[in-house]
Amino acid sequence: MRDENCIFCRIAAGEIPSETIYEDDACRVILDLGPASNGHMLILPKDHYADVTELPEEAAAPLLPLAARLGKAAMKGLGCAGFNLVQNNGEAAGQTVRHFHLHVIPRYEGGPAMCAWTPGEQTPEERAAAGKALRENL
Ligand code: 5GP
Ligand code: ZN
Repeated sequence: MRDENCIFCRIAAGEIPSETIYEDDACRVILDLGPASNGHMLILPKDHYADVTELPEEAAAPLLPLAARLGKAAMKGLGCAGFNLVQNNGEAAGQTVRHFHLHVIPRYEGGPAMCAWTPGEQTPEERAAAGKALRENL
């Protein structure tokens, strides 16, 4: 379950050196080369899945507890005040590497705004139409 042309497959396998924070049989956690903040980590499964829609449940299940552990380590070790978990799926969502990865981004007091959006407005009819389309496609 590996893509020979995928850089994250090669990093996860240890073929390309990385600043590794954690490793087990299923995943490797590395520091992002273009960090949003100091300590920005990427959780990489060792198997290749393009995005979360391909990730099997058994591969997904351990990732959230691991992300929590990494976030706590960032608060204790780096002094951040909180952290964001970010996970992009598809080019439109900002995904640049098509190998599933979960970002753990430390957030520091007084640091720059990120992972934020301006709340939009929607009519009850628009909300109902969106709800119907989503429920019908679950
Ligand atoms: P995406 O935009 O796909 O959610 O995130 C991809 C992330 O991978 C970016 O934050 C980018 O800085 C990081 N990245 C891309 N190539 C490499 C690499 O070769 N090594 C590491 N450590 N990070 C990378
Ligand atoms: Zn891959």
